[in-house]
Amino acid sequence: MRPTLKVRLVGLALASYVVFSSVARAQDSVRVVPGWGVDTSFTGSGDYTTQGPVPEIYRAWRDYLRSDAQRQSPTKYWSVAEQRRWSRYDIAGGYAYQGFPATVLSIQLAQPGATDEYVVRTLFASANGPTKDVKPIALTRVYAIRESGHWVFANALSRLTRDWKRHLVGHITYIVQPGHSFDEGKASSAVRFADSVAAMFGVQPITDLNYYVADTPEEIHRILGLDFMVGGDQASYSDPARQMILVGNSVFGEDHRHELTHSVLAPLTWTPNTAGIINEGTATWLGGSLGKSFRDVMKEYAAFLTAHPAITLDSVLTVTDHDLGMRPAGAALVEMTYQHGGIAGLKALMAGGRTDTQLRIALEKSLGMSWPEIERTWRAHVLEYASDPTKKRGAN
Ligand SMILES: [Zn+2]
Repeated sequence: MRPTLKVRLVGLALASYVVFSSVARAQDSVRVVPGWGVDTSFTGSGDYTTQGPVPEIYRAWRDYLRSDAQRQSPTKYWSVAEQRRWSRYDIAGGYAYQGFPATVLSIQLAQPGATDEYVVRTLFASANGPTKDVKPIALTRVYAIRESGHWVFANALSRLTRDWKRHLVGHITYIVQPGHSFDEGKASSAVRFADSVAAMFGVQPITDLNYYVADTPEEIHRILGLDFMVGGDQASYSDPARQMILVGNSVFGEDHRHELTHSVLAPLTWTPNTAGIINEGTATWLGGSLGKSFRDVMKEYAAFLTAHPAITLDSVLTVTDHDLGMRPAGAALVEMTYQHGGIAGLKALMAGGRTDTQLRIALEKSLGMSWPEIERTWRAHVLEYASDPTKKRGAN
């Protein structure tokens, strides 16, 4: 990465227009086409009697996708209110815009009779091989609305949750899918948990958090504006930048401690100096993972390591599957660090940097051990959970 950056910086200093025009070209290369049945013929007469404003909306959406969508820079194409609320205003875009061609499938009235709001659905997909097999990445939904005489775009979130019940508990606003019965007890326990994590790490308690509760992963993706997404079975998200948590899992519901930990500790991990394995490990240590408590996660991981003796901490750091998703291995490192150096040690580890080399140096420093020693201790630490699952507890 570094040589490339250097080259680009030199280029920027010498001839900034070259760099900027090449960036613009890269964005222009995002291919946007209308799907079957999207009539983009534009008379320019402003007479909407035939295809309505569809051609105008299509053009605005196409131009947005080709220009400001990737950068998330201020744009004339997106709702001013949402740009004011979030610096990265396009929520679905963060998941969907990965450079794949876009096909605008439909531009239709959001509600019959209301002509000032349209739903725009776009498929991001690639067509592969001689038989052009279509591999979709995401199917997004945005709303085209009128602002100052122009069509601009807005997220699905506030529109699709307009009728969801709100419950304010502590500083958390729960926004609950219709049909889900709100669990006040779980909500109060979540608030207490979040405050205790903040106190433990000496960070500001949560002052404002929107916590969306749905019963299925499908529903949380739908409100994010993702009618389909590869990996759309993920049941929860923490989105500290937009001060929100989304949970589509009725077991956790209002008290998803893993995601709450991510939100509360965002000031420490979000710089973004924290290695992914430490960030996930901390949330797992305090809040469990994927429907399981911390101890159950570790017990399962101990069985996994026993069955796969060739897996080492080194292989975990290079092969994702070796950690069952970068959680238990990191949780063990986090717990070891806490036991050795307390919260100060953990904070140093969190600030230690993202790269593999930085992580190794930070761990050696925080644990006061050489890397081979850390390797051995880490494995022994995990395996202890197989023999005596009640021996160790997280700080919860
Ligand atoms: Zn996580």
